Amino acid sequence: MHELGICDALLKMVRSIAKDEGLEEIKGISVEVGSLSGVVPAYLADCWTAVAEGTELEKASFTVDVLEGTAACMDCGEEFVANLEDLHCPSCGSDKLKPLTGRDLTLKEILVE
Ligand SMILES: [Zn+2]
Repeated sequence: MHELGICDALLKMVRSIAKDEGLEEIKGISVEVGSLSGVVPAYLADCWTAVAEGTELEKASFTVDVLEGTAACMDCGEEFVANLEDLHCPSCGSDKLKPLTGRDLTLKEILVE
């Protein structure tokens, strides 16, 4: 379950940004997860609750936005929004796909008062 490691890293990142920028009270953080990153948004939120518990970020809200990933077909070159339920090229039906976007997880926003 790598969501826990991700949240741990996120917590460190948020703390370091808060320190650098002198942010006092963080109301919430928002992250963007690519649909091809393999990260499950619901697990991510649960893990965040676990790592933030007992820290100054315990009460901060945690928002996960999913960004639809795109893929390219290695057979015909078609580029399309990847549907994780059905990973085939909509044009030729090939399953030789290459992810283009949507594999990242980004810290999008830190909300302060
Ligand atoms: Zn194709």
